[in-house]
Amino acid sequence: MVVLRVPALHNGVKTVLWQFTCYLSNLVLCNIRMPCEVKPRFVVLYGSQKGQAQSIAEGIAEEAEEHGLVAELSCLNQNENYNLEKENAPVIFIVSTTGDGEPPDNALQFVKHIKKKTLSTDHYKHLCYALLALGDTNYANFCNCGKTIERRLQELGAKQFYATGYADDGVGLEVVLDPWIEGLWKAIKGALSKMASDRAVHVKGDAGDLTEETPDSSIPVVQLDLLSLTDHQNGKSVGASVESDSKFASGASSSASATQTAVSDVRPASSAGRPGLASHSGGVASVSTSAPETQTGGAGVHHVALAASLTCSLPPLSESSLNVPALPPPYLDVSLQEVDTMGEITGPSNKETLHEVPISKAAQLTRGDSVKTALLLEMDISAYPMMTYQPGDSFDVVCPNRASEVEDLLHRLGLQDQRNHCVHVSLRKDTKKKGAKVPSYIPQNVSLLYLFTWCLEIRSVPKKAFLRALVENTRDSVQKRRLQELCSKQGAEDYNLYVRDQSLSILELLAAFPSCSPPLSLLIEHLPKLQPRPYSAASSCLRHPGKLHFVFNVVEFPACHGRPAGRQGLCTGWLFDLINPVLVFPGKAESSSSPALPKIHVSLRPNCSFRAPTDPSVPFIMVGPGTGVAPFIGFLQQRENERQENPEAVYGETWLFFGCRHRDRDYLFREELEGFVSSGTLSHLKVCFSRDNCEEEAEKATASAGRARYVQHNLLLNSQQITNILLKQNGCLYVCGDAKNMAKDVNDTLIEMIKTELQVDQLEAMKTLAGLREEKRYLQDIWG
Ligand code: FAD
Repeated sequence: MVVLRVPALHNGVKTVLWQFTCYLSNLVLCNIRMPCEVKPRFVVLYGSQKGQAQSIAEGIAEEAEEHGLVAELSCLNQNENYNLEKENAPVIFIVSTTGDGEPPDNALQFVKHIKKKTLSTDHYKHLCYALLALGDTNYANFCNCGKTIERRLQELGAKQFYATGYADDGVGLEVVLDPWIEGLWKAIKGALSKMASDRAVHVKGDAGDLTEETPDSSIPVVQLDLLSLTDHQNGKSVGASVESDSKFASGASSSASATQTAVSDVRPASSAGRPGLASHSGGVASVSTSAPETQTGGAGVHHVALAASLTCSLPPLSESSLNVPALPPPYLDVSLQEVDTMGEITGPSNKETLHEVPISKAAQLTRGDSVKTALLLEMDISAYPMMTYQPGDSFDVVCPNRASEVEDLLHRLGLQDQRNHCVHVSLRKDTKKKGAKVPSYIPQNVSLLYLFTWCLEIRSVPKKAFLRALVENTRDSVQKRRLQELCSKQGAEDYNLYVRDQSLSILELLAAFPSCSPPLSLLIEHLPKLQPRPYSAASSCLRHPGKLHFVFNVVEFPACHGRPAGRQGLCTGWLFDLINPVLVFPGKAESSSSPALPKIHVSLRPNCSFRAPTDPSVPFIMVGPGTGVAPFIGFLQQRENERQENPEAVYGETWLFFGCRHRDRDYLFREELEGFVSSGTLSHLKVCFSRDNCEEEAEKATASAGRARYVQHNLLLNSQQITNILLKQNGCLYVCGDAKNMAKDVNDTLIEMIKTELQVDQLEAMKTLAGLREEKRYLQDIWG
């Protein structure tokens, strides 16, 4: 059933004529579309690193039509497509943040432009904007790019017509995204109405002969000046509070219950859609069902499930009406062609931008009984002088998808016999997707096997829009219903629990929903680009000329419902398999007859801010538990060499806070670190062991590290010296490693330390820390 909302019409109101025209244009009568020249327009600009901001922007542009609007979509770096200097329609910015708070590559130019000091404070006086910032609170400088753009727009006189949304990928973008987009349409119409009446007043003032325009009461009036930045001080997102009008929240659910349809009847109001979103008006598909059914879908048999799982839900969700996202419009035509011989392409497709370097050494740093396996790789980069790096830099490793998973996926799609066929991907002529184009990472003239191996991230967690599209390709009604639940607003918690938190892949999902048979084109449309994995350099060129070291843990994903056996991380598992034959284990001598050394494709990612102070007299503190110690090994190797070359210079104190589980199992770089202490390169080494709790070990730990369990405890134990270095000696503090827990705990501990040492309140301490960050004296390089 299609739910189409009919906008109310009011006599004699010029400003709503467009609404009526658009309503008519939405009705396809005898295949004739009414002309719709007067649809109001707005502009959508995005800056996107991994494609999320782009797909949200595209979704908004697609949905515009059903709200009687025309969206002009453009990437921020395509400035030939838009002109903000003259823009008189509302502008929506959707921007993500990357790295250490940097703008995405395709927004860099724009950010640089608006930061120009020569721009006057009324440069954007005419501009009305709304902004959605995407970020991840696990990382430093949450939503920094969005905040920077917002700050500059306001400094340049632009007016905000709708509160900024800060969507947090750390907890799920949809928490903020859904209500933000639901409220957006009303806000755009309000802004258009206000802008039109402002113009009318202006024109009337100028000409004095226009008939009076009455604002239309059916168009929500959104105040342009009352919305402010409501981001939490500590970088948390504003959650659903972006739209204060509670009608939005209740509106969607009441519309759902008022328009229930049977499961088999599910149709969104429009074929246009956006990922992971329930549309508020016109785009809501409402679904209801009766009691939960059997997981096998056997006709007439009703088993009440005892526990919810990936494939099975419990009341109230199983009985609830659902708001599902609109169906994403298909946009690719994919065909497979049998060819005699495919040109032999092996390895990554963008080889020109990569260096193929041999691995010259591989060592396991942890003992066999350690919980995590940490490995050190040395690469021989001597043939690539342009790969000269500084400690603090990282580099990308390009890895393929696992051959067995690619084969399984081909089988699951019934395409195993066409694995060597050539894939032709083109744009569908009739696609309704706005701004659709063939993704740049899909090369032409490659085999299906190659496409799945090197181009698409087949391990990526399917987004809700993908699940929504899978519904259409699922035969069994129970499985269909469960997929609807997982992509619905009501099933958000189940989606997080059973799909997102388990990092489920499309292959695992298809195994759990056997009646789902998506076409190849759907996978190509929804699977993102296979991303390279970055690693921090764990060496200095001064100590190891022509060599680059890095250290990593082999990531392990445990078994769960939907994944019968655990699996390793894609890149770390691949590297582990690759180097296994040449691996040197702790305490074992290197074999003299080493087998052939494998090569890997890498590229450098310079990090200009995560650098040891250029002035050697500046004291600095390093916090790097586990593999987070990697860049600090580089810092210390560099410092040791500098000290040897220039012993007369003044060197500031250096502190390293390291932590691991057990002194004897996973104390990485122990000998090297103790050597740095002996040579005077490292002034203070503070190590803690979180799981050494037998008495003897605890004693050892206590002797060297006070009573600390985690790095932050050791920071607290040395609070006075640390705050002294930071607040009185102009020193720096670096944090590297796990983003999810450690970096937050360290941040909170630093706030506590500043509170105590300076005798200030929480807010003041947070401001002090933010100041250090701003001055680039508190730097993070975190991941996870
Ligand atoms: P995937 O198959 O991609 O699975 C990733 C999943 O594992 C994600 O859900 C993520 O939450 C989780 N995960 C990511 N990293 C870890 C981790 N280290 N431990 C446990 N779970 C994890 N990693 C290092 O080990 N050493 C480094 O020096 C290092 N430097 C980095 C520098 C930068 C700038 C960045 C952004 C990341 C860095 N990482 C480092 C992380 C690294 O890029 C990979 O994410 C990690 O090795 C997992 O890759 P994978 O393909 O094996 O896992």
